[in-house]
Amino acid sequence: MKYTPRLPRTNVNVSPGSPLKDLLLMLTAATAIMVGIYIALGFAVDALAPRISYETELSIGRFMGRHPILKDAKPAPQDIQELAETIRTQSTDIPFPVQVSIRQDPQVNAFALPGGRIVLTSGILEAIESQNELAFILGHELGHIAHRDHLRALGRGLVLLTLSSLVLESGDSSGANLGKMVVLTELTFTRRQETLADEAGQDALMTVFGHVTGPEQVFSHFAKLADTNYLTRFALTHPETQARIRHLKDRALANGFPSRALVPLHPEPLPAA
Ligand SMILES: [Zn+2]
Repeated sequence: MKYTPRLPRTNVNVSPGSPLKDLLLMLTAATAIMVGIYIALGFAVDALAPRISYETELSIGRFMGRHPILKDAKPAPQDIQELAETIRTQSTDIPFPVQVSIRQDPQVNAFALPGGRIVLTSGILEAIESQNELAFILGHELGHIAHRDHLRALGRGLVLLTLSSLVLESGDSSGANLGKMVVLTELTFTRRQETLADEAGQDALMTVFGHVTGPEQVFSHFAKLADTNYLTRFALTHPETQARIRHLKDRALANGFPSRALVPLHPEPLPAA
């Protein structure tokens, strides 16, 4: 019998398929592993976020206070600070004082950062017409702080950043990356988190005014802007406005929360640009 030399079937160096197919397979596997890690770490972050101490949150807040998005933010007028503090002490269990800043920005926007920092744009203050709307917005953002939503989002953002820097080999944790993180913070709130923040806003209205008129007016400002400015965060993160208004109406009915006239916003001079 004649011996015919041939390569063993299981030669690890020579693949029986095409190299391109193998590369695709490898990339798919690597992506699947990354997605798996992201989901697993995401769950871990969700479980850990409520356990982060308030001291740690305040340090994160101080660190993020240097973020460029806050560079031109000025402390809000006294009446806005006082309204935020009234809501915090009477309607939430947040143990540290909150600080409201105003950012010169025509966008209609509001967001919260770790450590009790709430930022309102000059655009949102120009759009709203009542103290009730202001209280609902502050109550909503305080709700995110009380529920530690931003810490969850920040954690998930960190996981995503770390993974993407692993892939792209451009790992750095400088201000630019922190910037991306803040954007992620603002975008990754789930519908459930928004619903609970809305409920916190409604509770704030009940506490301050004894009735819950206001959210519908707030949502109408965002709805008006939604199609002209796709960056408007409420339009991005709050896509089901009608469902949210409906939910608050049902909740008011179930709890016997009344509706009354809005209290006009006393125009206060905004801090100089
Ligand atoms: Zn929100």
